[in-house]
Amino acid sequence: MSEPKVARNYFGGKWVRSSDEKLLEVENPSTGEVIGRVVLSSAADVDRAVEAARGAFGPWSRTPLPGRVSSLYALRGLLLDHQEKISRTLCAEMGKSLPDARAEMNRTVQNVEAACGMPILQHGDKMIGSAAGIDGEVIRLPLGVFAAITPFNFPAMAPFWFLPYALATGNTFVLKPSEQVPLTMALIADLLDQTGLPPGVFNLVNGDKAAAEALVDHPGVRGVSFVGKSSTCRAVASRCVALNKRCQAMGSAKNHLVVMPDFSKLDQLIRNMSTSCFGCAGQRCMASSAIVAIGDETYQAVTERFVEDSKRFLVANPFDPSVADEPMLMGPVISADAKRFIVDMIARGVAEGATLALDGRDAVIPGGENGHFLGPTVFTDVKPGMEIHRTELFGPVVVILKAASLDGAISIINEHQYANACSIYTQSGHYARKFKLEAECGIIGVNVGIPAPVPFLPFGGMNDSMVGDVKMQGKAAVSFFAADKVIVERFGFGEW
Ligand code: NAD
Repeated sequence: MSEPKVARNYFGGKWVRSSDEKLLEVENPSTGEVIGRVVLSSAADVDRAVEAARGAFGPWSRTPLPGRVSSLYALRGLLLDHQEKISRTLCAEMGKSLPDARAEMNRTVQNVEAACGMPILQHGDKMIGSAAGIDGEVIRLPLGVFAAITPFNFPAMAPFWFLPYALATGNTFVLKPSEQVPLTMALIADLLDQTGLPPGVFNLVNGDKAAAEALVDHPGVRGVSFVGKSSTCRAVASRCVALNKRCQAMGSAKNHLVVMPDFSKLDQLIRNMSTSCFGCAGQRCMASSAIVAIGDETYQAVTERFVEDSKRFLVANPFDPSVADEPMLMGPVISADAKRFIVDMIARGVAEGATLALDGRDAVIPGGENGHFLGPTVFTDVKPGMEIHRTELFGPVVVILKAASLDGAISIINEHQYANACSIYTQSGHYARKFKLEAECGIIGVNVGIPAPVPFLPFGGMNDSMVGDVKMQGKAAVSFFAADKVIVERFGFGEW
């Protein structure tokens, strides 16, 4: 067996090694095998990364926009050339299926493509004659060093919600990926190195909470993009507010799917819902984990069919060649700790009085004895406010609730702490419109189980699912990464 890879730091255009390097093991969650190690950076390492980014900012911000964007075109080509290799690394360290990993890489590339539109997106505004002889102008300028801290569930895409936009707008960038999945970004950093970006424009600092906190607190960092648990969002955001830094923080979710009685194509509906709930073992921020059926008949039909369909989801090591391209395949959850938490919460649901209609705790995966597998799990007779409904489990566990009317379902959604996304299944324009206007979530789906916006649209939740007020992706990214400067100017007096 070859020596596991080490995910090191990349600052100032070079891979660097610290003198007193501390390493953490990176595990394949399907097998428990150690597949790599990651450097746990110190505050001194973080300082070197930020200083490299600071040094690169002046010349990079003055590089004409088409020049900045041409590095992204080069990156796009390299990502496409290495897509399969990166997808396999992503799959090995995160545990999602290969089709899911490839889909993640597609979205990663699309974010680069969206940022290539920066020569148009970053236009300012000009107003001739804002007062007698005076013109007003808004120009959008880069600010300096931006940092991003990302979670384990999208090792490639989550960093790319920020990285291409930060660079295209003329900022320099320091990324700290999740210490649970550092190998994917190590590969991508190698590609960034080949694009010809000037040294220091992109920097990678690996590590855990200590490195993340040092990055947030560093006086050279002007803004922080964060994705992770809502509790971590709050911790990051409060430090940023205290230090007067820009901050956008995307947090936890409990996404609801509402089924109206008028929906007729039950087979397609059930499959659409189970893919949303169990794909990626329920570890997508856009995964649904709560279903609300309207009325007794709909509840009866949905629970029966959903439980039956959930049993068809394959649970396997994503590299098992007999099932590797299977779209209905669920890999493990990320770690033994995550599995323990989910198993405890299932026991909690039983104790709370919900009916455990499908129990995935004893899923047996040949060859996966050391992996962190759980089978699809479904609770019925769930009441709003039960702990299994209130809490984000981030695993393959679904709760099914009943409401008497659409108003009742909207109240369940609006009273929930998390408000990332929610969807309605209906053929009625009236119900769909009411849902769009009244459900208080950042992203609304109509007959779409995973309403994840493409990179050309903004992405972000409401309530405790997002801290800060600027979403990521698309035009919203320009508002975050560029500062609007307003110019009020007069030349000559009394002419115009
Ligand atoms: P996490 O909050 O545990 O960790 C995320 C990142 O924060 C990691 O890089 C970690 O090292 C770092 N970190 C840990 N403690 C920190 C601190 N005190 N200060 C600064 N950084 C710190 O999250 P996770 O378990 O990796 O990811 C899963 C969570 O992410 C889920 O709650 C999921 O819903 C959420 N998520 C949300 C979105 C979204 O768009 N809303 C997208 C993906 C994931």
